[in-house]
Amino acid sequence: MKKLLPLFFLALSVTPINAQKYKKVPEAKFAIAQPNAHLRFLASDALLGRKTGEQGNNVAARYIAEQFRKFGVKPANGDSYLQKVPFEKAAPSTLGIITTKEATLNVGEDFVVMSGGGLGLSNNAVVHVGYGWVDETTGYDDYKGIDVKDKVVIAQVGTPDSKTPQEVFGAMAAKRKFAADRGAAAFIEIYNLQIPWKTVVNFFGKPSLRLKEKESEGKNMLHLWVNAEPGKALAKNKIEELNLNVGEKQSQSVMSQNVVGIIEGTDPVLKNEYLVLTAHFDHIGYGSESGRVTAEDSIFNGARDNAFGTTAVLTAAEALSLKPAKRSILLIAYTGEEIGLLGSKYYSEHPLIPLEKCVFNLNCDGAGYDTKEQVSVIGLNRTSAEKHIVKAAATLGLTAGDDPAPEQGLFDRSDNVSLAKMGIPSPNYAPGMTSFSEEIYKYYHQVTDNPENIDPAYLLKYCQSYTYAARLIANDKAKPTWVSGDKYEKAYNELYGR
Ligand SMILES: [Zn+2]
Repeated sequence: MKKLLPLFFLALSVTPINAQKYKKVPEAKFAIAQPNAHLRFLASDALLGRKTGEQGNNVAARYIAEQFRKFGVKPANGDSYLQKVPFEKAAPSTLGIITTKEATLNVGEDFVVMSGGGLGLSNNAVVHVGYGWVDETTGYDDYKGIDVKDKVVIAQVGTPDSKTPQEVFGAMAAKRKFAADRGAAAFIEIYNLQIPWKTVVNFFGKPSLRLKEKESEGKNMLHLWVNAEPGKALAKNKIEELNLNVGEKQSQSVMSQNVVGIIEGTDPVLKNEYLVLTAHFDHIGYGSESGRVTAEDSIFNGARDNAFGTTAVLTAAEALSLKPAKRSILLIAYTGEEIGLLGSKYYSEHPLIPLEKCVFNLNCDGAGYDTKEQVSVIGLNRTSAEKHIVKAAATLGLTAGDDPAPEQGLFDRSDNVSLAKMGIPSPNYAPGMTSFSEEIYKYYHQVTDNPENIDPAYLLKYCQSYTYAARLIANDKAKPTWVSGDKYEKAYNELYGR
């Protein structure tokens, strides 16, 4: 007995302190059925895969908004829980041809229309501008000393520094605007990325949803991607002029929405700062145009991707309403993730709370889980909140693992990147994943991603650990930071005026 006594005290004074504190928060008392009911509704067949712009997506948004209302969350957009996100459904013209003295290039084969249309040019002067990139901070300017007015501007795809396809896609609109602002007649990029050209044609050649861009962003400028091989006919030493004819695009307005709410903090000072909790609720819809269907099932329910994460945000919304934290909480359920992180991009450009008041973002998104022993936090060791996340997971008996596949660039592939780019420390809190294993691919973007094959006990733990991590971060007086040297540290310093 004697020997056991110190051990007994040790046990009381060390580990259970967490558990004792945790027992007092509402999330500790939640039952398995609570998050499971959210997930089963959001991932039900009735919502037809929640595709952006479609009715199932709108119903999901309405559900989330009414849950916020029930929990006593305040609307973040005036008296509304919805932030309208305007999209354009654009179908590029199937008629298009470029001719030079030596070559003929056809739309859908040699080039794709990225934006604009309805343009005919004959014997029009061309000008080559490297990447067509301008960076005011470094003084880099591919247009320096070059007059592009009324000329067809030809550039390499991407920027001098971009390495990943995401970076290349991300730079596209800015590059188009550089050309448009300088009076170019049209903008052509020569494509040379790893992604097969056929994939590019399939993706950009069919009708797709895009954020409605402002006129000033050069939306009406004809912008083409020409594949590398036929693109050789447009090289600098080959041509000084070309003929071009591209038909009008078909376009239609489509409305979608982010769902936004606020829980006020309790601390008179810290309540002016916001912890942002986010997850995308859209998925990829139904039918063969969304992926591989079977005789039994054609609905992509997206239980893991991302009814799971949305459920965690709903769980946090309920618990943090019952017992608020010191900082205020901004809740955002994003639309448009699956079509290019567009709901979060729109929010980051149209924030409802000034971004400099938002100190941290914990996003929930993932491809699925292949272990129930852990959570996988993409960017775990990139911010000072690591200790809180590790502690919260441990309290629920889970290990907080880091990025399971660093080579995949997951950090920049989910909605957390939209606020990270603005400087806000923003890891992604994903379900436990050891690698892109068979177990992950079994469900990832498949019709098999159904609510029935989710373990509701693991879902509960995931939601509780997420909520508890959010609570610890929101209660910590110290404002979270990026670890020194992170690629988003510069944006952080700019945003918060450091
Ligand atoms: Zn997805």
